[in-house]
Amino acid sequence: MEEIFESDSAPKETRKVQPGYKILVAEDEESNFRYIEKLLKKAGFDLLRANNGLEAVEYVELDGKINLILMDIKMPVMNGVEATREIKKISPDIPIIATTAFAIPGDREVFLKAGCDDYIPKPIRAGELIDMIMSHIA
Ligand SMILES: [Mg+2]
Repeated sequence: MEEIFESDSAPKETRKVQPGYKILVAEDEESNFRYIEKLLKKAGFDLLRANNGLEAVEYVELDGKINLILMDIKMPVMNGVEATREIKKISPDIPIIATTAFAIPGDREVFLKAGCDDYIPKPIRAGELIDMIMSHIA
């Protein structure tokens, strides 16, 4: 596998990303999305973007081939916790990784109880995110 990350944030995981593995990124902030987009594309994933929680739910309703969702919690229209609850009613098997800055103690449990499969705090480190995504690839 190519060395694609800085050595201090290189993923431990060495499995290759399957072609066509599609990640829905629900993220309202442009700069955050650009950063996530860059690192996930480098790692070989296909991406979709939702600008808020409602769009994320709509993508899941319309697209049967989403493999994993990276879910920002603080978003307009519908937040990530509500969106996760809705998505898990439609497609309970899609892994959802919650992410947020300024998490307070206990938040992680709230996210997991809503149906999120994992949680990664912002700022997101490339290696940590890729390893986490790989751990949810069956
Ligand atoms: Mg946000």
